[in-house]
Amino acid sequence: MNRLVQIENDRFHDHCGVCGVFGHPEAAKLAYLGLYALQHRGQESAGIVSSDGRELHLEKSMGLVADIFQPEVLARLPGDAALGHTRYSTAGDTSLINAQPIVIDCNKGKLALGHNGNLPSAAKWRRTLEHRGSIFQTTSDTEVIVHLVARSQARNLSGALADALNQVEGAYSLLVLTRDEMYALRDPRGFRPLALGKLDGAWIVASETCAFDLIGATYVRDVEPGEMLRITRAGIESLHFAAEKPLQQCIFEHVYFARPDSLVFGRVVEQSREMLGRLLAREHPVPADIVVPVPDSGVPAAVGYSQESGVPFRMGLIRNHYVGRTFIEPVQSIRDFGVKLKLNPVPEILRGKRVVLVDDSIVRGTTSRKIVRMVREAGAAEVHVRISCPPTISPCYYGVDTPTREELIASDESRVRPRLTPEELEEFETHLDRRRAPRSAGVPPADVQSGGGEKPAGETPALRDSRSNREQRSIEEIRQYLGADSLGYVSLSSLHRAVDDTRGSFCTSCYTGVYPVDGSQGELEARRLEIIEEAPVASVMGVQGEIQVVPK
Ligand code: SF4
Repeated sequence: MNRLVQIENDRFHDHCGVCGVFGHPEAAKLAYLGLYALQHRGQESAGIVSSDGRELHLEKSMGLVADIFQPEVLARLPGDAALGHTRYSTAGDTSLINAQPIVIDCNKGKLALGHNGNLPSAAKWRRTLEHRGSIFQTTSDTEVIVHLVARSQARNLSGALADALNQVEGAYSLLVLTRDEMYALRDPRGFRPLALGKLDGAWIVASETCAFDLIGATYVRDVEPGEMLRITRAGIESLHFAAEKPLQQCIFEHVYFARPDSLVFGRVVEQSREMLGRLLAREHPVPADIVVPVPDSGVPAAVGYSQESGVPFRMGLIRNHYVGRTFIEPVQSIRDFGVKLKLNPVPEILRGKRVVLVDDSIVRGTTSRKIVRMVREAGAAEVHVRISCPPTISPCYYGVDTPTREELIASDESRVRPRLTPEELEEFETHLDRRRAPRSAGVPPADVQSGGGEKPAGETPALRDSRSNREQRSIEEIRQYLGADSLGYVSLSSLHRAVDDTRGSFCTSCYTGVYPVDGSQGELEARRLEIIEEAPVASVMGVQGEIQVVPK
């Protein structure tokens, strides 16, 4: 039996981070520092491509940013423009060929691309393009964009990019570097963040503003959804390359992905997370002695919970920060080996205490169950789990690595979740009936607590009751699986409130199962908006599809 386990395999994984620098003599070093700040967005591989005005120079490798970019590697990246990318695979496998930036030589010249996001329509496009003779050299969905750019009949690169991107649907915050230009583009729904900054006259573009902080750059503004910025030595131009679409900014950036010190979609992430903790405390109060976060990502919500409830905040779990994404051989005799490598309980803090354990999410539940057990074994009298997002019931198709519906413990199709026995179910239904009256009077249940939240439009009271009972049953089943004394998730309406979403501009598909771009089948009809200048067909037909991915 293969006993290798991967640390942190029961978390949502960050997608990718990009950082571009244009017009600075130390461009590659700044891109490196930017990637260093964005390391949380992807830890599998990293790459930087630089331009000295004559040639593109590429260095990429598997591993962490600091390990890859030693001084001698950075010395091989000359020029005043650079594009960096750090990757966790959301599409395509994890090998070096899929590491980015992807550098290609095509009829539009030599260019490099770094992509954060995911294209649900990539599989369909791949088949179509292969049918037309395109030869793919990676398994990454980003290469679909590359082929569409190469096939575009537009006269210039900005036209070709617009042409290509208007044919695909999905999430992309994209940086493109040529010998003398840099482009920054964001999809019209704005799924992923992308910010513009300035340093000593140079332009910096990064997934998150924490990259600006490290290098001393000033935040200018976000790249707008559907906007293309073209940065040259003559200045910066803005072009809206796509028709306006309803915004779908990823709300999970605020729950978990982005660094708390970043400004994402115009709001400081730390602020949202603390507010989530406060709202969680209001929705799911419980008599307790201490509030303990699951570090690091549970800390801001635990601070908010503690401030709102008046229950003292204590670091009852300490995180070992030096455990990377490493494969290790577990020792049979050590229970919960993987979790113990990462987290250590402090018995002196936990012993005899009624603990509110705050975390940002539950994926499969396997890690949360181990953490609950660990806290109990350290002497806690009670463990009340509080989660600062609603139950995750559906996968993400827009650039976040989530397991299948069957693996998500909160999904109706979950294979992980134990089901109540008929006797338990009957008892639980009676329990819900008994509690219905006080709940409708505004008193939250004390032991089993629902995700609550928004109700679909047009839902009848009877349907609402049955949906609410189903949700509560599911939460009770999860509570039993975790071995917690109680379990409460923040509601969807509170999540919107915590990120100050007054206009419905955030994606919440993984909590609702309703998708703005149908990604579940990976099939979408291609649409093309004729907003570009077209070159005479004859002038480009001969080179269509002839692209070459430049290997490292
Ligand atoms: S489905 Fe969830 S993780 Fe994916 S973009 Fe939407 S909110 Fe973010």
